[in-house]
Amino acid sequence: MRDRIRTADSEEEDAMDVHLYSSNDEPKMKRDFDKKVFVNRSLTLESIKCYGFDMDYTLAMYKSPDYESTGFELLRDRMVSVGYPHELLRYTYDPSFPTRGVVVDTSYGNLLKVDSNGNILVCCHGFHFLREGDVHFYYPNKFIQRDDTERFYILNTLFNLSETYLYACLVDFFTRCTRYANLEKGFQHGDLFMSYRSMFQDVRKAMDFIHDTGVLKEQTIKNLEKYVVKDPNIPVLLTRIKEVAKVFLATNSDYNYTEVIMKYLLEGNSKPGGPKKPWRSYFDLVVVDTRKPLFFADGTVLRQVDTNTGKLRIGTYTGDLQHGTVYSGGSSDIVSELLDVKGKDILYVGDHIFGDILKSKKRQGWKTFLVVPELTKELQVWEEKKSHFEELKRLDVFLAELYKHLDSGSKECPDISAIKTRMNVLAYRMDISYGQMGSLLRSGSTQTLFASQLIRYADLYSSTCINLLHYPFNYLFMAPPVLMPHEVASQISAEVSSSDQSNRTLTSNKN
Ligand SMILES: [Mg+2]
Repeated sequence: MRDRIRTADSEEEDAMDVHLYSSNDEPKMKRDFDKKVFVNRSLTLESIKCYGFDMDYTLAMYKSPDYESTGFELLRDRMVSVGYPHELLRYTYDPSFPTRGVVVDTSYGNLLKVDSNGNILVCCHGFHFLREGDVHFYYPNKFIQRDDTERFYILNTLFNLSETYLYACLVDFFTRCTRYANLEKGFQHGDLFMSYRSMFQDVRKAMDFIHDTGVLKEQTIKNLEKYVVKDPNIPVLLTRIKEVAKVFLATNSDYNYTEVIMKYLLEGNSKPGGPKKPWRSYFDLVVVDTRKPLFFADGTVLRQVDTNTGKLRIGTYTGDLQHGTVYSGGSSDIVSELLDVKGKDILYVGDHIFGDILKSKKRQGWKTFLVVPELTKELQVWEEKKSHFEELKRLDVFLAELYKHLDSGSKECPDISAIKTRMNVLAYRMDISYGQMGSLLRSGSTQTLFASQLIRYADLYSSTCINLLHYPFNYLFMAPPVLMPHEVASQISAEVSSSDQSNRTLTSNKN
């Protein structure tokens, strides 16, 4: 009997070994890269009791570049209507130019791509990309103090793409226009001085104008098919999640706009003849006007929305959660309280690295899922240009080899200029394949500020939240192990000594 048990046990153990082995080497379920969810920190979906969703660019994916293009035209026209030259109307949106996450230097009018420490990776003035020597002219350390938020502004969101492009257009236009003299911090026309800073403030004001007056929303609503992706998988995903956990929507948009968009996404998607489910029934809680990132700190007054009129009820809502009710304002603490869930049990899905992800993680300890629509293209270019990156890595190793046998007594100075030039060429070739300003996530072998924030604050990330459909709700997302440099060195030396050992064994066997 004992033997039988042992046999069964060892068979089970063997089966387990085989299973574990095969899951390492040859995954049973192969997902295409563009259907994958990527993991920075391990997370088991089984422990998630509540899923929260942002709306704009998360559940509601806007069609690129049509949406950004319309945003750009509204911005451009607004600038002209407040007094900027009519010649600006000649500019049209070029989606290959802007990359998300660039920093505007409002002192010199430059657009900068930086790493997590503020070292400059790419610098452009209008549409002119500066060479290294010219970058040193503006920034002797090739570095910016990005905490100086008065001077530097990070264009973090997908809504900012049209703004990034418009600012480049303005700098390009005034630099080339003979009526204006180019000065260090702006342009002079007669007795009128226009600083780079005031131009950027005007762009920001125009952006607020098109959002606050609702002109962009109006255009979107008029032509939903043109601007919003209607993915039939959204109602499927939300229905499946609601069977196993609580679901809420937290959007900065107002009620009337949310109603139109969510109706289009969830009610217009049911099969003909099928039951018509009201969009609000997909959620346990709907909160509009959330004013993220404030929502993750003190928040604002929680009010009920009259769903017939879209108007807010007077006073602060203090009652229990009522199904189907829409709330306005509030805070993440109130949401946890109303849904009776702790922060660590919530997985929040959003596209805004700062307003959705960094703040919910840092201030509330929520689990986070960042939607990065650019990832589809990033992966495609990465696959195509991987050989450039491999060569860059080989050159890195080659450089290290040159210095390997030198110590503090050495006077030898290896000539590395040719290698450096080749490395710059490779980095440039890789960058340009992503777009004029390069990848969202890297420049050559250096990661951008955006990439470092993504790694630090997003537990999971993917090109779309729909990719959650490809995983069961008890799935364990395992982060790849990341070794520190001293651990890598120790591992390499262990591997080298074991291969030396086996080489010696082989040699002795031959002998
Ligand atoms: Mg959003």
